[in-house]
Amino acid sequence: MTVKHLPTGEVHKGQKGGITGCGFDTKEQSTHWENSIERITCAKNGCK
Ligand SMILES: [Zn+2]
Repeated sequence: MTVKHLPTGEVHKGQKGGITGCGFDTKEQSTHWENSIERITCAKNGCK
């Protein structure tokens, strides 16, 4: 499962309602996040 940050289009490891692999809390601005099946594009540690 991956989660997309809509404003940037970046796809992270994780899912809506949780913490991304690189440490973003998707609950803080939950409208900015959407569950995705796209490939991870985030290059930060924990996501890639
Ligand atoms: Zn990430």
